[in-house]
Amino acid sequence: MFGKKDKAEKAEAKVKKVQKTANMKKLEDLYYAAEDARKNAYAPYSDFKVGAALLVKPNEDSVLPVNKIYTGVNIENGSYGATLCAERVAFAKAISDGILGYDIGENPFVAIAVSAGEEEALPCGICRQFMSEFAPEITIVTKADGQIRIRNLMQLLPESFQLNKEEKEAVAAVESSCSAPAAEEAAEEPAEMPAAAEPELVVETAETVLEETDDAPEKVEEKLEE
Ligand code: ZN
Repeated sequence: MFGKKDKAEKAEAKVKKVQKTANMKKLEDLYYAAEDARKNAYAPYSDFKVGAALLVKPNEDSVLPVNKIYTGVNIENGSYGATLCAERVAFAKAISDGILGYDIGENPFVAIAVSAGEEEALPCGICRQFMSEFAPEITIVTKADGQIRIRNLMQLLPESFQLNKEEKEAVAAVESSCSAPAAEEAAEEPAEMPAAAEPELVVETAETVLEETDDAPEKVEEKLEE
């Protein structure tokens, strides 16, 4: 178990290592990719447009092209709770493209740049937690006062919630046994598909998501104040 101090030291060491070894020009380019994507943001309510650029670096054996960049933008909604942040959109694009399914090594998500124009924008609490699921040590790239700034997610969310690893694996095992094989077996056993039950499940999920969205920022703030 890492104590708070150990984690802070580890996070600082990570940032120093990135500053020493990473190609700062590449991180700067990543920031400009986020800034460029920003023009596609849909933010009619807040007019606060955000762009993100996620750098995915597969290992040598991967079938993926090297240094693939996935961009994202914030997408607002008249039902405010349904709004998506740029960072989560970028991750969703990468994951829906199959990034997690390839042999991409332990840390495919190298860095994510966030641009909100002149103002420096750091990922919100929900996005910090969202990213910590896949990349707890990802480098966060922003720009303030004309300078590229490098941080580590561990610095922004040192006490992130992580589901017990064994539970996580158990959940993944259940999910994989429910999804892929179910599709193959569907032709043989159509009775196993509970079509009538689906609308109920959708309603429950929507309510749960809204409740979680309302609670999450307070919890994160409490954690940051601790
Ligand atoms: Zn966010």
